[in-house]
Amino acid sequence: MSGPGLVITIDGPAGTGKSSVAHRLAQRLGLEFLDTGAMYRAAALLALEQELSPDGGPVLAAAVERTPPRFDWCSSPPRMMLGGRDVSERIREADVTGIVSRVAACLEVRRQMVVSQRAAAAAHPRLVTEGRDQGSVVFPDAPLRIYLDAAPHVRARRRAEQLRASGRPASEREILQGILERDRIDSGRSEGPLRVPVGAECVDTSELDLDGVVERLEALARARLGERLAVPAAASRP
Ligand code: C5P
Repeated sequence: MSGPGLVITIDGPAGTGKSSVAHRLAQRLGLEFLDTGAMYRAAALLALEQELSPDGGPVLAAAVERTPPRFDWCSSPPRMMLGGRDVSERIREADVTGIVSRVAACLEVRRQMVVSQRAAAAAHPRLVTEGRDQGSVVFPDAPLRIYLDAAPHVRARRRAEQLRASGRPASEREILQGILERDRIDSGRSEGPLRVPVGAECVDTSELDLDGVVERLEALARARLGERLAVPAAASRP
């Protein structure tokens, strides 16, 4: 443990750039970074590899229990490990993205993930965590809860640009359909639905680039958290 806990949550729909923003914000503030979407994606990869139904909560939860997704915290951002393999890139592929929201709608899987996320925060108490339910369900008492949003066509365009930049073909129309479908499932489920957390700071990123969003959030965090962001004396000693 490194002094008193300090959790900042960032939630929002698919394609708002939450992961990049959360990682950059964590670096600027000297905090660690938790990508909870990667945990659901790892569970979806298990479903694919073990040919399990993405809707089969108890069976999927048993598979996750046997092979829990774990982060390698030595890397920045932490790498996602599954059964000793680094699956950080694999979980971004289209087959995983296509079923992850169904996996994440399973009550039994969500409950496991919430327990793991709180355990991660206990072990890494100065944390920026991002997902869909971090400020509403997992860390409702976090001193700064942020909700990022952007118009769906902007989110689709950004995803397409990211994919093309990494040399993969991308149809903006198909990406938009996928994003709207994930938003529908993520907002409609009974457990941990995508919601604006009570008291959250809402930031629309449609007109901002990555640096602009990170700067806005850093200013919010410094104004709200002030001295709590300073590294505790005990943690800075050699
Ligand atoms: O953020 P990312 O696109 O990687 O998340 C993948 C999926 O994981 C989301 O579409 C959502 O279904 C699920 N998720 C979730 N709760 C979280 C994080 C992600 O349901 N806290």
